[in-house]
Amino acid sequence: MKHIFTIDEDCAKQLDAKDPLANFRSRFCIPVNTIYLDGNSLGLLPMDAEESLLRVINEWKTLGIQGWFEGERPWWHFGEDLGEKAASLVGADPSEVAATGTTTVNLHSLVSTFYHPNGKRTKILADTLDFPTDIYALQSQIKLKGLNPDQHLVLVPPNGRFLEEKKIIDYMTDEMALVMLPSALYRSGQLLDMAYLTEEAHERGIPIGFDCCHSVGAVPHYFDDWGVDFAVWCSYKYLNSGPGGTAFLYINKKHFHKEPGLTGWFGYVKEKQFDMLLEFEHAKSAGGWQMSSSNILCSAPIEGALEVTLEAGIHRIREKSIKITSYLIFLIDQLLSGDPYNFEVGTPRNPDRRTGHVAIEHDEAFRISEALKTRGVITDFRPPNIIRVAPVALYNTYHEVWQIVQFLQEIIDQQEYQKFSK
Ligand SMILES: *Cc1c(COP(=O)(O)O)cnc(C)c1O
Repeated sequence: MKHIFTIDEDCAKQLDAKDPLANFRSRFCIPVNTIYLDGNSLGLLPMDAEESLLRVINEWKTLGIQGWFEGERPWWHFGEDLGEKAASLVGADPSEVAATGTTTVNLHSLVSTFYHPNGKRTKILADTLDFPTDIYALQSQIKLKGLNPDQHLVLVPPNGRFLEEKKIIDYMTDEMALVMLPSALYRSGQLLDMAYLTEEAHERGIPIGFDCCHSVGAVPHYFDDWGVDFAVWCSYKYLNSGPGGTAFLYINKKHFHKEPGLTGWFGYVKEKQFDMLLEFEHAKSAGGWQMSSSNILCSAPIEGALEVTLEAGIHRIREKSIKITSYLIFLIDQLLSGDPYNFEVGTPRNPDRRTGHVAIEHDEAFRISEALKTRGVITDFRPPNIIRVAPVALYNTYHEVWQIVQFLQEIIDQQEYQKFSK
Protein backbone atom coordinates (compact mmCIF):
# COMPACT_ATOMS: atom_id res chain seq x y z
CA MET A 1 0.00 0.00 0.00
CA LYS A 2 1.32 3.42 -0.94
CA HIS A 3 0.87 6.11 1.65
CA ILE A 4 0.34 9.75 0.75
CA PHE A 5 2.05 12.08 3.18
CA THR A 6 2.74 15.79 3.24
CA ILE A 7 5.28 17.70 5.35
CA ASP A 8 2.86 19.95 7.23
CA GLU A 9 1.82 19.49 10.84
CA ASP A 10 -1.77 19.05 9.77
CA CYS A 11 -0.91 15.80 8.02
CA ALA A 12 0.45 14.41 11.33
CA LYS A 13 -2.71 15.45 13.13
CA GLN A 14 -4.92 13.81 10.54
CA LEU A 15 -2.89 10.60 10.63
CA ASP A 16 -3.36 10.51 14.41
CA ALA A 17 -7.06 11.23 14.13
CA LYS A 18 -7.48 8.27 11.77
CA ASP A 19 -5.16 5.91 13.68
CA PRO A 20 -7.16 2.81 14.73
CA LEU A 21 -4.62 2.10 17.51
CA ALA A 22 -4.60 5.65 18.90
CA ASN A 23 -6.46 4.64 22.07
CA PHE A 24 -3.75 2.22 23.11
CA ARG A 25 -1.42 5.07 24.04
CA SER A 26 -3.51 5.74 27.16
CA ARG A 27 -2.83 2.17 28.31
CA PHE A 28 0.87 3.01 28.76
CA CYS A 29 2.83 5.06 31.29
CA ILE A 30 4.48 7.73 29.15
CA PRO A 31 7.34 9.56 30.91
CA VAL A 32 6.31 13.22 31.39
CA ASN A 33 7.48 15.85 28.91
CA THR A 34 9.12 13.15 26.86
CA ILE A 35 8.93 11.90 23.33
CA TYR A 36 9.91 8.29 23.84
CA LEU A 37 11.20 6.62 20.67
CA ASP A 38 13.25 3.86 22.23
CA GLY A 39 10.75 1.02 22.48
CA ASN A 40 13.09 -1.19 20.50
CA SER A 41 15.49 -1.12 23.46
CA LEU A 42 13.06 -0.97 26.37
CA GLY A 43 9.32 -0.82 25.80
CA LEU A 44 7.28 1.45 28.08
CA LEU A 45 5.22 0.11 30.98
CA PRO A 46 1.66 -0.88 30.10
CA MET A 47 -0.75 -0.33 33.02
CA ASP A 48 -1.95 -3.89 32.49
CA ALA A 49 1.60 -5.12 33.14
CA GLU A 50 1.81 -3.10 36.34
CA GLU A 51 -1.48 -4.67 37.37
CA SER A 52 -0.44 -8.26 36.73
CA LEU A 53 2.86 -7.65 38.54
CA LEU A 54 1.09 -6.14 41.57
CA ARG A 55 -1.38 -9.02 41.61
CA VAL A 56 1.45 -11.53 41.81
CA ILE A 57 3.23 -9.55 44.52
CA ASN A 58 -0.02 -9.56 46.45
CA GLU A 59 -0.30 -13.31 45.98
CA TRP A 60 3.17 -13.70 47.46
CA LYS A 61 2.08 -11.43 50.32
CA THR A 62 -1.14 -13.31 51.05
CA LEU A 63 -0.50 -16.87 49.91
CA GLY A 64 3.21 -17.40 50.50
CA ILE A 65 4.34 -20.67 49.00
CA GLN A 66 0.77 -21.57 48.15
CA GLY A 67 1.00 -19.14 45.25
CA TRP A 68 2.70 -21.91 43.27
CA PHE A 69 -0.62 -23.75 43.07
CA GLU A 70 -3.24 -21.30 44.23
CA GLY A 71 -2.29 -18.06 42.52
CA GLU A 72 -4.85 -16.75 40.03
CA ARG A 73 -2.45 -18.01 37.38
CA PRO A 74 -0.60 -20.65 39.40
CA TRP A 75 3.13 -19.98 39.37
CA TRP A 76 3.80 -23.68 38.81
CA HIS A 77 3.01 -23.45 35.12
CA PHE A 78 3.48 -19.72 34.59
CA GLY A 79 6.20 -20.28 31.98
CA GLU A 80 4.06 -22.66 29.92
CA ASP A 81 0.96 -20.46 30.30
CA LEU A 82 2.70 -17.34 29.05
CA GLY A 83 4.16 -19.36 26.19
CA GLU A 84 0.66 -20.46 25.20
CA LYS A 85 -0.52 -16.88 25.33
CA ALA A 86 2.33 -15.63 23.16
CA ALA A 87 2.20 -18.45 20.60
CA SER A 88 -0.12 -16.72 18.14
CA LEU A 89 2.31 -13.79 17.85
CA VAL A 90 4.89 -16.10 16.30
CA GLY A 91 2.66 -18.56 14.44
CA ALA A 92 3.38 -21.43 16.81
CA ASP A 93 1.40 -24.17 18.49
CA PRO A 94 0.78 -23.23 22.17
CA SER A 95 2.97 -26.15 23.27
CA GLU A 96 5.95 -24.85 21.30
CA VAL A 97 6.58 -21.62 23.24
CA ALA A 98 7.69 -21.06 26.84
CA ALA A 99 8.56 -17.95 28.83
CA THR A 100 11.76 -18.81 30.62
CA GLY A 101 15.29 -17.65 31.32
CA THR A 102 16.78 -14.80 29.34
CA THR A 103 17.60 -14.43 25.67
CA THR A 104 21.27 -15.31 25.94
CA VAL A 105 20.61 -18.24 28.27
CA ASN A 106 17.91 -19.57 25.93
CA LEU A 107 20.26 -19.20 23.01
CA HIS A 108 22.84 -21.30 24.86
CA SER A 109 20.20 -23.84 25.73
CA LEU A 110 18.86 -24.27 22.20
CA VAL A 111 22.21 -24.09 20.44
CA SER A 112 23.47 -26.79 22.79
CA THR A 113 20.39 -28.83 21.86
CA PHE A 114 20.90 -28.49 18.10
CA TYR A 115 24.67 -28.18 17.66
CA HIS A 116 26.22 -31.62 17.42
CA PRO A 117 29.39 -31.43 15.34
CA ASN A 118 29.74 -34.70 13.51
CA GLY A 119 32.05 -35.85 10.70
CA LYS A 120 32.43 -33.04 8.23
CA ARG A 121 29.62 -30.96 9.74
CA THR A 122 31.30 -29.08 12.56
CA LYS A 123 30.63 -25.42 11.94
CA ILE A 124 28.06 -22.82 12.95
CA LEU A 125 26.99 -20.17 10.45
CA ALA A 126 26.18 -16.68 11.76
CA ASP A 127 26.96 -13.17 10.49
CA THR A 128 29.12 -10.18 11.33
CA LEU A 129 26.14 -7.87 11.92
CA ASP A 130 24.77 -10.02 14.78
CA PHE A 131 24.06 -8.54 18.18
CA PRO A 132 27.38 -9.40 19.94
CA THR A 133 25.89 -11.54 22.72
CA ASP A 134 24.85 -14.08 20.09
CA ILE A 135 28.40 -14.30 18.81
CA TYR A 136 29.84 -14.66 22.33
CA ALA A 137 27.39 -17.48 23.07
CA LEU A 138 28.18 -19.28 19.81
CA GLN A 139 31.91 -18.98 20.45
CA SER A 140 31.57 -20.53 23.88
CA GLN A 141 29.31 -23.31 22.57
CA ILE A 142 32.00 -24.19 20.04
CA LYS A 143 34.71 -24.13 22.72
CA LEU A 144 32.60 -26.40 24.93
CA LYS A 145 32.78 -28.96 22.13
CA GLY A 146 36.59 -28.75 22.24
CA LEU A 147 36.70 -26.86 18.94
CA ASN A 148 38.20 -23.51 17.97
CA PRO A 149 35.73 -20.74 17.13
CA ASP A 150 38.26 -19.18 14.75
CA GLN A 151 37.72 -22.15 12.48
CA HIS A 152 34.25 -23.31 13.41
CA LEU A 153 32.26 -20.11 13.65
CA VAL A 154 31.70 -18.79 10.14
CA LEU A 155 30.40 -15.23 9.85
CA VAL A 156 28.74 -14.08 6.65
CA PRO A 157 30.15 -10.65 5.75
CA PRO A 158 27.73 -7.78 5.19
CA ASN A 159 27.02 -5.74 2.12
CA GLY A 160 27.22 -2.30 3.71
CA ARG A 161 24.51 -2.06 6.35
CA PHE A 162 22.69 -5.15 5.17
CA LEU A 163 22.93 -8.88 4.70
CA GLU A 164 22.05 -10.57 1.43
CA GLU A 165 20.07 -13.77 1.78
CA LYS A 166 21.68 -15.18 -1.39
CA LYS A 167 25.11 -14.70 0.11
CA ILE A 168 24.07 -16.33 3.39
CA ILE A 169 22.81 -19.30 1.40
CA ASP A 170 26.14 -19.54 -0.45
CA TYR A 171 27.73 -20.05 2.96
CA MET A 172 25.39 -22.94 3.83
CA THR A 173 27.94 -25.58 2.91
CA ASP A 174 28.12 -29.24 3.90
CA GLU A 175 30.48 -28.23 6.73
CA MET A 176 27.67 -26.45 8.58
CA ALA A 177 26.10 -28.18 11.57
CA LEU A 178 23.84 -25.23 12.43
CA VAL A 179 22.68 -21.84 11.11
CA MET A 180 21.91 -19.18 13.74
CA LEU A 181 20.71 -15.80 12.48
CA PRO A 182 18.90 -12.69 13.66
CA SER A 183 15.37 -12.08 12.38
CA ALA A 184 16.20 -8.38 12.08
CA LEU A 185 19.45 -6.46 12.29
CA TYR A 186 19.63 -4.36 15.43
CA ARG A 187 21.36 -1.44 13.71
CA SER A 188 19.88 -1.05 10.23
CA GLY A 189 16.54 -2.67 11.06
CA GLN A 190 16.71 -4.98 8.02
CA LEU A 191 14.27 -7.86 8.35
CA LEU A 192 15.64 -11.12 6.97
CA ASP A 193 13.50 -13.46 4.90
CA MET A 194 13.18 -16.21 7.49
CA ALA A 195 10.93 -18.43 5.36
CA TYR A 196 13.39 -18.45 2.48
CA LEU A 197 16.47 -18.96 4.68
CA THR A 198 14.77 -21.82 6.54
CA GLU A 199 13.80 -23.55 3.32
CA GLU A 200 17.31 -23.26 1.90
CA ALA A 201 18.99 -24.43 5.13
CA HIS A 202 16.72 -27.46 5.29
CA GLU A 203 17.35 -28.31 1.66
CA ARG A 204 21.00 -28.61 2.67
CA GLY A 205 20.19 -30.65 5.77
CA ILE A 206 21.11 -27.90 8.25
CA PRO A 207 18.94 -26.96 11.26
CA ILE A 208 18.28 -23.23 11.64
CA GLY A 209 17.40 -20.98 14.57
CA PHE A 210 16.61 -17.27 14.82
CA ASP A 211 17.13 -14.59 17.44
CA CYS A 212 13.94 -12.55 17.10
CA CYS A 213 14.47 -9.91 19.81
CA HIS A 214 14.16 -7.12 17.27
CA SER A 215 10.99 -8.29 15.57
CA VAL A 216 8.58 -10.11 17.92
CA GLY A 217 5.83 -7.71 18.92
CA ALA A 218 6.41 -5.52 15.85
CA VAL A 219 6.15 -8.04 13.02
CA PRO A 220 4.03 -11.22 12.69
CA HIS A 221 6.03 -14.45 12.51
CA TYR A 222 4.96 -17.85 11.16
CA PHE A 223 7.47 -20.25 12.67
CA ASP A 224 5.40 -23.40 12.10
CA ASP A 225 4.58 -22.57 8.49
CA TRP A 226 8.18 -21.67 7.81
CA GLY A 227 9.41 -24.82 9.58
CA VAL A 228 11.92 -22.93 11.74
CA ASP A 229 13.68 -25.33 14.13
CA PHE A 230 13.98 -22.98 17.09
CA ALA A 231 13.92 -19.32 18.08
CA VAL A 232 14.56 -17.06 21.06
CA TRP A 233 13.45 -13.52 21.86
CA CYS A 234 13.25 -11.14 24.78
CA SER A 235 10.11 -9.67 26.29
CA TYR A 236 11.35 -6.19 27.10
CA LYS A 237 11.62 -4.55 23.67
CA TYR A 238 8.45 -4.54 21.53
CA LEU A 239 6.67 -6.74 24.10
CA ASN A 240 6.91 -4.12 26.86
CA SER A 241 7.41 -6.49 29.79
CA GLY A 242 10.08 -4.69 31.77
CA PRO A 243 13.87 -4.42 32.06
CA GLY A 244 15.56 -7.80 32.10
CA GLY A 245 12.17 -9.54 32.02
CA THR A 246 11.85 -13.25 31.38
CA ALA A 247 12.51 -14.19 27.75
CA PHE A 248 10.86 -16.66 25.38
CA LEU A 249 11.90 -19.70 23.44
CA TYR A 250 10.26 -21.60 20.59
CA ILE A 251 11.06 -25.16 19.68
CA ASN A 252 9.34 -26.85 16.74
CA LYS A 253 7.27 -29.80 17.95
CA LYS A 254 9.06 -32.17 15.62
CA HIS A 255 12.04 -31.72 17.97
CA PHE A 256 10.28 -32.28 21.29
CA HIS A 257 11.95 -35.70 21.59
CA LYS A 258 15.43 -34.13 21.39
CA GLU A 259 17.47 -34.13 24.59
CA PRO A 260 17.69 -30.54 25.89
CA GLY A 261 21.33 -29.43 25.88
CA LEU A 262 21.09 -27.70 29.27
CA THR A 263 18.82 -29.38 31.76
CA GLY A 264 17.25 -28.53 35.08
CA TRP A 265 14.37 -29.70 37.22
CA PHE A 266 11.79 -27.28 35.78
CA GLY A 267 12.07 -29.02 32.44
CA TYR A 268 10.96 -32.29 34.01
CA VAL A 269 7.70 -33.94 32.94
CA LYS A 270 5.33 -31.82 35.01
CA GLU A 271 3.28 -34.63 36.56
CA LYS A 272 6.43 -36.34 37.83
CA GLN A 273 8.60 -33.36 38.75
CA PHE A 274 8.02 -33.84 42.46
CA ASP A 275 8.89 -37.51 42.36
CA MET A 276 12.43 -36.10 42.60
CA LEU A 277 13.94 -38.97 40.64
CA LEU A 278 17.60 -38.71 39.71
CA GLU A 279 17.06 -39.75 36.12
CA PHE A 280 16.07 -36.73 34.01
CA GLU A 281 13.02 -36.97 31.78
CA HIS A 282 12.09 -33.76 29.97
CA ALA A 283 8.57 -32.59 29.21
CA LYS A 284 7.76 -33.05 25.52
CA SER A 285 6.92 -29.40 24.98
CA ALA A 286 8.77 -26.08 25.07
CA GLY A 287 8.42 -26.33 28.86
CA GLY A 288 10.96 -29.16 28.74
CA TRP A 289 13.62 -26.55 27.96
CA GLN A 290 13.10 -24.70 31.24
CA MET A 291 15.85 -25.14 33.80
CA SER A 292 15.08 -23.31 37.02
CA SER A 293 11.97 -22.36 38.96
CA SER A 294 10.14 -19.75 36.90
CA ASN A 295 11.35 -16.26 37.80
CA ILE A 296 7.83 -15.27 38.67
CA LEU A 297 8.36 -11.59 39.44
CA CYS A 298 10.13 -11.05 36.12
CA SER A 299 7.40 -12.98 34.32
CA ALA A 300 4.34 -11.43 35.94
CA PRO A 301 4.40 -8.20 33.85
CA ILE A 302 4.42 -10.28 30.65
CA GLU A 303 0.86 -11.39 31.33
CA GLY A 304 -0.63 -7.88 31.28
CA ALA A 305 1.69 -6.68 28.53
CA LEU A 306 0.70 -9.57 26.25
CA GLU A 307 -2.95 -8.80 26.77
CA VAL A 308 -2.44 -5.31 25.36
CA THR A 309 -0.51 -6.60 22.35
CA LEU A 310 -3.05 -9.35 21.65
CA GLU A 311 -5.94 -6.94 21.98
CA ALA A 312 -4.39 -4.55 19.47
CA GLY A 313 -3.56 -7.50 17.22
CA ILE A 314 -0.18 -8.12 15.65
CA HIS A 315 -1.45 -7.42 12.13
CA ARG A 316 -2.81 -4.01 13.07
CA ILE A 317 0.43 -3.31 14.94
CA ARG A 318 2.45 -4.19 11.84
CA GLU A 319 0.21 -2.06 9.64
CA LYS A 320 0.70 1.02 11.79
CA SER A 321 4.39 0.32 12.27
CA ILE A 322 4.89 0.28 8.50
CA LYS A 323 2.87 3.45 8.06
CA ILE A 324 4.57 5.41 10.83
CA THR A 325 8.10 4.34 9.84
CA SER A 326 7.25 5.20 6.21
CA TYR A 327 6.09 8.61 7.39
CA LEU A 328 9.36 9.17 9.26
CA ILE A 329 11.38 8.14 6.21
CA PHE A 330 9.29 10.48 4.04
CA LEU A 331 9.97 13.42 6.38
CA ILE A 332 13.70 12.68 6.53
CA ASP A 333 13.85 12.58 2.74
CA GLN A 334 11.86 15.77 2.37
CA LEU A 335 13.27 17.87 5.19
CA LEU A 336 16.58 16.47 6.37
CA SER A 337 18.47 15.23 3.33
CA GLY A 338 21.10 17.28 1.56
CA ASP A 339 22.93 20.39 2.80
CA PRO A 340 23.03 21.61 5.49
CA TYR A 341 21.25 18.70 7.16
CA ASN A 342 22.81 15.64 5.54
CA PHE A 343 20.84 12.97 7.35
CA GLU A 344 20.53 9.60 5.66
CA VAL A 345 18.13 6.73 6.06
CA GLY A 346 20.05 3.54 6.84
CA THR A 347 17.02 1.25 6.88
CA PRO A 348 15.51 -0.67 3.94
CA ARG A 349 12.97 1.45 2.13
CA ASN A 350 10.90 -1.55 1.19
CA PRO A 351 8.64 -1.86 4.26
CA ASP A 352 8.51 -5.64 3.93
CA ARG A 353 12.23 -5.68 4.54
CA ARG A 354 12.34 -3.72 7.77
CA THR A 355 11.32 -4.18 11.37
CA GLY A 356 9.94 -1.47 13.68
CA HIS A 357 12.74 1.09 13.82
CA VAL A 358 14.45 3.50 11.47
CA ALA A 359 18.21 4.07 11.53
CA ILE A 360 18.97 7.73 10.88
CA GLU A 361 22.59 8.23 9.96
CA HIS A 362 24.66 11.38 10.45
CA ASP A 363 28.36 12.05 11.06
CA GLU A 364 27.39 13.95 14.22
CA ALA A 365 24.88 11.31 15.37
CA PHE A 366 26.23 11.19 18.92
CA ARG A 367 26.07 14.92 19.60
CA ILE A 368 22.73 15.23 17.84
CA SER A 369 21.24 12.50 20.00
CA GLU A 370 22.53 14.37 23.08
CA ALA A 371 20.85 17.54 21.83
CA LEU A 372 17.62 15.59 21.30
CA LYS A 373 17.83 14.38 24.88
CA THR A 374 17.89 17.94 26.23
CA ARG A 375 14.70 18.51 24.24
CA GLY A 376 13.11 15.51 25.97
CA VAL A 377 13.47 13.06 23.09
CA ILE A 378 14.70 9.58 23.94
CA THR A 379 16.29 7.67 21.07
CA ASP A 380 19.41 5.60 21.09
CA PHE A 381 22.77 6.17 19.59
CA ARG A 382 24.66 3.29 18.02
CA PRO A 383 28.26 4.09 17.15
CA PRO A 384 29.62 5.40 14.96
CA ASN A 385 26.82 7.28 13.20
CA ILE A 386 23.34 5.90 13.91
CA ILE A 387 20.40 7.38 15.77
CA ARG A 388 17.87 4.60 16.15
CA VAL A 389 14.30 5.83 16.21
CA ALA A 390 11.47 3.44 17.00
CA PRO A 391 8.00 4.93 16.61
CA VAL A 392 6.13 2.14 18.36
CA ALA A 393 2.65 1.32 17.05
CA LEU A 394 1.07 0.92 20.48
CA TYR A 395 2.07 4.23 22.02
CA ASN A 396 3.78 6.64 19.65
CA THR A 397 1.95 9.24 17.58
CA TYR A 398 2.49 10.60 14.10
CA HIS A 399 2.72 14.02 15.68
CA GLU A 400 5.69 12.93 17.77
CA VAL A 401 7.42 11.81 14.59
CA TRP A 402 6.66 15.14 12.93
CA GLN A 403 7.92 16.94 16.04
CA ILE A 404 11.30 15.20 16.21
CA VAL A 405 11.97 15.95 12.56
CA GLN A 406 11.39 19.64 13.33
CA PHE A 407 13.76 19.28 16.28
CA LEU A 408 16.42 17.72 14.09
CA GLN A 409 16.13 20.61 11.65
CA GLU A 410 16.47 23.14 14.46
CA ILE A 411 19.40 21.31 16.05
CA ILE A 412 21.31 21.66 12.77
CA ASP A 413 20.05 25.17 11.92
CA GLN A 414 21.14 26.47 15.31
CA GLN A 415 24.24 24.25 15.49
CA GLU A 416 22.90 23.16 18.85
CA TYR A 417 24.80 19.86 18.76
CA GLN A 418 28.11 21.74 18.94
CA LYS A 419 27.43 22.47 22.61
CA PHE A 420 28.06 18.82 23.41
CA SER A 421 31.42 17.17 23.63
CA LYS A 422 32.30 14.35 21.27
C1 LIG B 1 18.26 -7.22 23.05
C2 LIG B 1 18.91 -8.38 22.40
C3 LIG B 1 19.48 -9.41 23.15
C4 LIG B 1 19.55 -9.28 24.65
O1 LIG B 1 19.95 -10.42 25.28
P1 LIG B 1 19.74 -10.56 26.86
O2 LIG B 1 20.25 -11.90 27.15
O3 LIG B 1 18.30 -10.36 27.13
O4 LIG B 1 20.53 -9.45 27.52
C5 LIG B 1 19.99 -10.49 22.48
N1 LIG B 1 19.97 -10.57 21.13
C6 LIG B 1 19.46 -9.57 20.38
C7 LIG B 1 19.43 -9.69 18.89
C8 LIG B 1 18.92 -8.46 20.99
O5 LIG B 1 18.40 -7.48 20.25
